[in-house]
Amino acid sequence: MNEPHLTKVASPSSALSRDRLGRPLRDLRISVTDRCNFRCVYCMPKEVFGNDYQFLERKELLNFEEIARLARIFREFGIEKVRLTGGEPLVRRKIEQLIAMLAAIPGLDLTLTTNGSLLQKKARALKDAGLKRVTVSLDSLDDAVFMRMNDVDFPVTRVLEGIDAAAAAGLAPIKINMVVKRGVNEHSILPMARFFRQSGHILRFIEYMDVGSTNGWRMDDVVTAREIVGMISAEMPLEPADPNYRGEVAERWRYKDGSGEIGVIASVTQAFCRDCTRARISTEGKLYTCLFAADGHDLRQLLRKGASDHDIRDAISAVWSRRGDRYSEIRTAETAKLEKIEMSYIGG
Ligand code: SAM
Repeated sequence: MNEPHLTKVASPSSALSRDRLGRPLRDLRISVTDRCNFRCVYCMPKEVFGNDYQFLERKELLNFEEIARLARIFREFGIEKVRLTGGEPLVRRKIEQLIAMLAAIPGLDLTLTTNGSLLQKKARALKDAGLKRVTVSLDSLDDAVFMRMNDVDFPVTRVLEGIDAAAAAGLAPIKINMVVKRGVNEHSILPMARFFRQSGHILRFIEYMDVGSTNGWRMDDVVTAREIVGMISAEMPLEPADPNYRGEVAERWRYKDGSGEIGVIASVTQAFCRDCTRARISTEGKLYTCLFAADGHDLRQLLRKGASDHDIRDAISAVWSRRGDRYSEIRTAETAKLEKIEMSYIGG
């Protein structure tokens, strides 16, 4: 008899607690721009993202008030962590203002993924605005390899200076992400491991993925997490470490001599969909529940037509409760060819 009443008064967080596979919503990634000053060959290849590529216009992007409002609503659903990404988040003008607005939401762990190119200039302002940590992408310490990968001749030293500036500003612990592509940068694995071993930063190796429809992915290009751990452990013995929390994306390994740890993100060979607690908001305000999705749910339209927080909550709740995606667990050479959203737009 009482049931309808109970359903009505249930808090939003309980209404949204689980998707169809029983997964809670815990993390939100927000892409703040589809633009980037790099043209990494595996992410935004020049042949596609060239001079005549049509990026989104300013009015199409969610503005800072819209982003902060969504973040507040998601926080009510129990979101604990927000990661800003893109594109390159630090090319979005006045990003510090957005960070200050998000930092004002109580209880949010606020972080950002960057290619590091603008960190030296911005690390202090980001920290002052309330950013907690950063993850910096760096695919090699060898300039020739790195420049071939970023395809804009950006030198390694400038990224390292950015990492130092982030550390000096207190944006720690810093994670360093290295995507490994066979035949391109697997020779950089050991030099990167040696370099970051006693730095206090956490180096994480990412299996090359079939994101988007432009990077021409083949399974043969993937250097597996197993191979990477084996290669490093042969020189600098490693042992497995416990995850920091359930659903942690990176598998942790620590050096047996106590000199630090690494992570491997085996999104291809050991998919972790069953523990995926992430939602993503694209640059133009679409909600995606999977990096490999083909389409998302338009939240911008709701925001701009005057929807109440309640309406927006209902929309998010409906999307999450319908969610059943587990792309990486069912990936085949065939699914890799499917039309998918680009990572620069949905946010890496
Ligand atoms: N511009 C920022 C950066 O460079 O970190 C944030 C966006 S970027 C899309 C986020 C992360 O996704 C980077 O670490 C990048 O290396 C990674 N990434 C991009 N394409 C990838 C792919 N095909 N496979 C695996 N990781 C990829």
